[in-house]
Amino acid sequence: MEHGATIKHNIKNAPKTGSWRYMKPEVDKKKCIGCATCVSFCPEASIEMKKYKEKQKDKADIDYNFCKGCGVCAQVCPSRAISMKKN
Ligand code: SF4
Ligand code: SF4
Repeated sequence: MEHGATIKHNIKNAPKTGSWRYMKPEVDKKKCIGCATCVSFCPEASIEMKKYKEKQKDKADIDYNFCKGCGVCAQVCPSRAISMKKN
């Protein structure tokens, strides 16, 4: 029997979302505690943790080229730092 493998998804090779997205997540950097929960739940792998300010934890940063506006990130964020706005 063959064993399975996990292939690292490279978002940069994925097709861009385009203009059809209806809702768009916005991260409130003051509320973001840098837990990275949203990163692991995003089905499009379009969230990265990035440096925000010196001596602060990295904060969630959304790549809108690939985000589909599904709202999963806003649902799983423990500090309610992500809100969905009309695109
Ligand atoms: S709205 Fe969906 S696709 Fe966009 S960043 Fe959040 S979880 Fe990812
Ligand atoms: S889940 Fe919320 S608090 Fe955690 S990194 Fe994402 S936006 Fe920040």
